[in-house]
Amino acid sequence: MEDCIFCKIANGEIPCGRIYENESFFSVPDKNQKVPGHSLIISKRHFKTTLDLPTTSGKELLDCIKKTAMKIIKKQKAHGFNLVNNNFPAAGQIVQHVHYHILPRKKGDKSPFVY
Ligand code: AMP
Ligand code: ZN
Repeated sequence: MEDCIFCKIANGEIPCGRIYENESFFSVPDKNQKVPGHSLIISKRHFKTTLDLPTTSGKELLDCIKKTAMKIIKKQKAHGFNLVNNNFPAAGQIVQHVHYHILPRKKGDKSPFVY
């Protein structure tokens, strides 16, 4: 989709080092790191929110989440992580192309990402 920043990353128009990828999803570091290792799981095809994703892509989504989280936890020596998915602007979605934040956490850190 034209003028979609994540479609441009997906098709290589904007170069971005990939942490992991499979047929339908890939992961990259977030350009505004809320915590060290903050990363995004992005759909290769343009879908707006989780509600638009085909249910059949669930397996690949989970694969990308798990592989990315495990890599980041190891690299950051983290003890856990938050998985955040904003859907629609009312819920804080800024980029209108479905994506999932992975936020590594350490024991006793003061990160505000607690729900
Ligand atoms: P959201 O509020 O869930 O839509 O978050 C969008 C996220 O995309 C923000 O954390 C941005 O920092 C991130 N972002 C925007 N443009 C880029 C980019 N070119 N590369 C990596 N992350 C980006
Ligand atoms: Zn897009």
